[in-house]
Amino acid sequence: MSRDRATSRLLRIFLCHSTEDKETIRKLYQYLSNDGFKPWVDEEDILPGQNWREEIPKAVREADIVLVCLSRNSTTKSGYVQKEIKLALDIAEEQPENTIYIIPVKLEECEIPERLESLQTVNLFSERGYERLIQSLRHRAGALGVTSPFNNTITTTEFSTPENPALISVSSKQLSTIEKERDTRQSSTKFESYQPQSVQETHVNVIATPPPPAETNAIVDLAIEIGKHQTRIQNGHGVVLSEPSIIAINKLSNTVKAIGKDAEGFLNSLSDIVVFYPMEDNKVADSDLTAKMLQHFISKICNNETSIRARVVVAIPSELTPVERRAFVEAAYHAKADEVYLVERILCAAVGAGLLINGTYGNMVIYVSESATEVMVISHGRPASFKAINEGTNMMEEAITAYIERKYNLRIGKRMAEIIRMEIGSAFPLDETVSIDVHGHNLLEGMPKTISISDEEVREALADTVATIVNVVRDVLQQTPPELSADIVERGIVLTGDGARLKNLDLRLKLETNLSVSIPEDPLTSVVSGATKMLSSSNLSMEKRLVHSPELKFIKLFDGIMGSILSWFSSDLAIDIGAKNTLVYAKGTGIVVAESSIVAVNKLTYDVEAIGIEAKQMMGRTPSSMIPIHPIKNGVIFNFDLAVKMLKHFITKAHGGKKWVRPRVVIPVRSGLSKVERNALEEAAYNAKASKVYLVEEAMCAAIGAGLPIMETHGNMIVDIGGSATDIAVISFLGIAYSQSVRVAGNEMDEAITQFIKRKYNLLIGERTAEAIKIELGSAFPLDEPLSMEIRGRSLMEGMPKTIFVSDEEIREALADSVATIVKAVRLTMQKTSPELASDIVERGIMLMGGGALLKNMDKRLSIEIGIPVSIADDPLSTTLLGAGRMLSDFGLLKQVKWDQTYKLELK
Ligand code: ADP
Ligand code: MG
Repeated sequence: MSRDRATSRLLRIFLCHSTEDKETIRKLYQYLSNDGFKPWVDEEDILPGQNWREEIPKAVREADIVLVCLSRNSTTKSGYVQKEIKLALDIAEEQPENTIYIIPVKLEECEIPERLESLQTVNLFSERGYERLIQSLRHRAGALGVTSPFNNTITTTEFSTPENPALISVSSKQLSTIEKERDTRQSSTKFESYQPQSVQETHVNVIATPPPPAETNAIVDLAIEIGKHQTRIQNGHGVVLSEPSIIAINKLSNTVKAIGKDAEGFLNSLSDIVVFYPMEDNKVADSDLTAKMLQHFISKICNNETSIRARVVVAIPSELTPVERRAFVEAAYHAKADEVYLVERILCAAVGAGLLINGTYGNMVIYVSESATEVMVISHGRPASFKAINEGTNMMEEAITAYIERKYNLRIGKRMAEIIRMEIGSAFPLDETVSIDVHGHNLLEGMPKTISISDEEVREALADTVATIVNVVRDVLQQTPPELSADIVERGIVLTGDGARLKNLDLRLKLETNLSVSIPEDPLTSVVSGATKMLSSSNLSMEKRLVHSPELKFIKLFDGIMGSILSWFSSDLAIDIGAKNTLVYAKGTGIVVAESSIVAVNKLTYDVEAIGIEAKQMMGRTPSSMIPIHPIKNGVIFNFDLAVKMLKHFITKAHGGKKWVRPRVVIPVRSGLSKVERNALEEAAYNAKASKVYLVEEAMCAAIGAGLPIMETHGNMIVDIGGSATDIAVISFLGIAYSQSVRVAGNEMDEAITQFIKRKYNLLIGERTAEAIKIELGSAFPLDEPLSMEIRGRSLMEGMPKTIFVSDEEIREALADSVATIVKAVRLTMQKTSPELASDIVERGIMLMGGGALLKNMDKRLSIEIGIPVSIADDPLSTTLLGAGRMLSDFGLLKQVKWDQTYKLELK
């Protein structure tokens, strides 16, 4: 860090104001002095007899920062105030770029003078106004290296809460403004005239204040939002940290070089130092590194004072699995937090935007972050309807980049795309057209080039993303129960998150939904500020939403001698945990278990009643007091305890019921799984009494199982059409060169058949019938001989069982979309593969596997459409398992392909 020592002088603040506002200014002067700043105001600081014509300009020149206090009085008056502003603006000219030097402070709702318009204003009369002002002052103090006060006596609450009418000045006029503001806030139907903010506001938002002085054994409450790109931390005083979520590691020594801001310098360096993003878009990718990073940030805030104990609220994405939630908790505990609470970030955003989420009313909140858009209707502190998509501002920037590249052959950087989005990005035509210069690299001439782009073009580029967001909002509105919809009609929608700053997004949403839309004052930090409010809130019903720490530690059983002795008496196993079925292969024997991947749990007692085949049989009987649970879906653990029980059951079964076994186990994993998810799988297998667990990429197992020459440097393509996903991978020299996964496979086909029959024949068929039809009749390309079959279902018209005949042609029609999606994904993968590997694939062909490979003429369809020969693996339903099994007798190969945590760091 560059500034460890602060000079011991106070931040000098010039209060530029008009005489009519004297009362208020006195108050402000008092507050600022109390909070450890050195305000300057003529009345107090010019001695009788001094020449104010000289003293005032001198004071402006000497000031570190100028607060231009605006009211209806000061803005309509010409006179000395205007001179002071002019002088301050002149001095501002000389300041380095991005310096906060002038802050327009609104004492009441009023016009802003034109020349101050480009600066972010602070509304002192509004909630958190004073707090925000203090943030800026601290930021300035930090930049100058002067003492920045951080004492606990800050009077923010008195200034800020709209519930407290005693906040600022006694002028009745201002009180009425406050009252009005409060009213509009409560009915939350105003705000419509929200002016989209310009890019300048980021200067104020990025606040890195020096940490609070440590009191021994002090407890600090911190609200933390960890995004893939940015981590924000706030305490009772405001945002205290906002740094990139990155960590720089020396590849050779495997040590941490720098974290956060300090690591930025390594982003584009070509040294041995690599920069990691420990967070994925919406979840923890690496809990060790996340812990390390959080630890660094928290101790930075606590001034490296070890005696400080932290209570932490972490704002998390909705829809995380328990394993992913645990990763957040674990990271926070490792980072030395004493109490950890997880709260869904959209709830935080709602609270931060000033909504009372515990009420019986329905409130709709839209949160557009970097990587996601979440829409929720909240009532009684919990979601009434919800939808999330993985598209946010990053997607907007990608769209802008792609648009400019397509239209102008100009490649632009990430930063440029961000500037374009923030400056002229809009969701609805602006009042005046604007354009900005775009600097980039011309792809034709290979030279830097500057073009001009208009808001209209950017709007076109953003059209799809905006339309998607609008649709998500519509979907959620549709799912919302009528009583709550009525509330939303009355109270409007709150739009927050970074994406809320897209110009006219509120207007667009308003037009499309016919509801009023408001944006909180600081949409960027609404999540952390909401989380902070929750920490200080004594409102207990809020705590229902807080998730306490789940059990933390898993013990690796039998890692010691006992385990290795028992492993001699055990058969090594390969276990393929499919969406539907789990297959177990025992070394030397072959496939020994093939059962459903389900656990039957008693609805009332939550006891496990049966697992696998027995569970499936039990579920068949009706009425059943059991619920079927798939503890592992798509390779991801959803219920850790049940996953362990299920694995233990299969392992025992594979050993003929013998209990004292400790096998070594190979488990294929999907390449899309994060480190956190892999760790959980590994732990589950250890807890299920494995003596050693090896995770191997599924695609690698499949390639080995299909007998492809993976040791060569040639490229091979495999397409695995399973139950819930189709995985496509290009493999070369023991590695996966490229992989892609689409969520369209067997299950989706069954669903398509069900829908087709329902639409065409008004006939309802079961899941099993649909699958049987697919297996019997389903095809991806016309058959040589037509087929048909008799099917039974329940007529929707008469409610009676009915029998009809369907033909292969009809089913081909039903499956057309699913098949087309798979073909498209394969084509896309071909396009993304490097030319050398692609030409290998053209020569050697594509290997098809998974149950979906058995769909009639799937191979033919692919080879015709892609123009490459396609072959089907010998035993497509168990290719992956057989490949994993093969590794049990080739440990040399296993060691080479097994998944390894590359950077496992010691956590202190
Ligand atoms: P996973 O690995 O995801 O468990 P599998 O590779 O075992 O999936 O494939 C299961 C899928 O294959 C199921 O959707 C099943 O309906 C489908 N399937 C099995 N046999 C056929 C067939 N002959 N034709 C079409 N689909 C089939
Ligand atoms: Mg599979």
